[in-house]
Amino acid sequence: MTKSQQKLIEVNNLKKYFPLKSSIISKNKQVVKAVDDISFHIYKGETFGLVGESGCGKSTLGRTINRLYDPTSGEILFDGKDIANLSNKELQPYRKRMQMIFQDPYSSLNPYMSVEEIIDEPLEIHTSLSKNERKGIMVDILEKVGLKKEDLEKYPHEFSGGQRQRIGIARALSINPEFILCDEAISALDVSIQAQVINMLEDLQSEMKLTYLFVAHDLSMVRHISDRIGVMYLGKLVEISNSDELYHKPLHPYTQALLSAIPIPDPIKAQNSKREIITGELPSPIEMETGCRFRSRCPFAKPICAEVDPKLKQVDGEHFVACHLY
Ligand code: SF4
Repeated sequence: MTKSQQKLIEVNNLKKYFPLKSSIISKNKQVVKAVDDISFHIYKGETFGLVGESGCGKSTLGRTINRLYDPTSGEILFDGKDIANLSNKELQPYRKRMQMIFQDPYSSLNPYMSVEEIIDEPLEIHTSLSKNERKGIMVDILEKVGLKKEDLEKYPHEFSGGQRQRIGIARALSINPEFILCDEAISALDVSIQAQVINMLEDLQSEMKLTYLFVAHDLSMVRHISDRIGVMYLGKLVEISNSDELYHKPLHPYTQALLSAIPIPDPIKAQNSKREIITGELPSPIEMETGCRFRSRCPFAKPICAEVDPKLKQVDGEHFVACHLY
């Protein structure tokens, strides 16, 4: 359920193109259109899940919103202020309000830094608190993520994968942000640990009034944590809906195929269920043709699909789809 109707993030016509190296000497500048004209919003206190196959641009979209990448064009409104073109200095107050949890708890923590140094780093950069005050915050945040005060002196290699991800979460939360980009934050963890981390993220969200953008390649993973979900395909958002409706009434043929690829644990149900397997060629993200990007793999493609790029349109309440079938 959506937590509030106040938007914390609003993205309008956002594009992030990466020029190819060869284009420096080539007359025809080739670009990879990782994020191509995307508009959507995230409400305060909401968890917005962003899903799609690897390479669809979902992490690039998240990192552009967090201004880890400079956008090619478009608006990124954070609490009403367009931050798309702010300089590093101008971004400083927003960096404190927007944090990130990375995918790989093994490589995202510096092995030569103690837990105390890791969590203290953002506190030192973004606050003017004394060492003692910062230590108090660190102990408090470690408890919130299920670790102990004594862990401050340890190093990342002394922890399990799940514990390391908790350290990454503590680092992101130490400066009391409002928005967290969880970029495949649980993908590298064992299934049993994933559930624990998701429960913890949900508890922290209500306690600290956080807003999450939860990026994952697996629809089953985002189902329980997300209020609404956006489905991305080759740089475009093709469907946005509240989480339950997306699972019970997926409209876009790509969403239907993604959902049907989720393994069913019951062998009898699995045998009786009809599976949509995505076939056909994946178009190049460099030379994008006109029309719908999914048409080379879509079993329902019709002539208009080759001519006109379908725009995201509202079909019902919070349910939007980009497809000529609707
Ligand atoms: Fe399929 Fe056409 Fe819809 Fe694209 S617009 S998903 S090709 S029916």
